[in-house]
Amino acid sequence: MIPVAAGVWLARCECGATERFPEAEQGWAWVLSHPCPDEDTEQVIDLTGSNGCNCQS
Ligand SMILES: [Zn+2]
Repeated sequence: MIPVAAGVWLARCECGATERFPEAEQGWAWVLSHPCPDEDTEQVIDLTGSNGCNCQS
């Protein structure tokens, strides 16, 4: 869950989909229930490795 502004949280699923919510709990619920299109696609790996960020979040 990434805070992007006051009262705005950016939720990002493992599949790369993102959605903004006013509360972190809503974002977590969305991630947990997100109908990922295909977990086996290589795009998942590309999204996590192409931005040059080493942060764990
Ligand atoms: Zn997903």
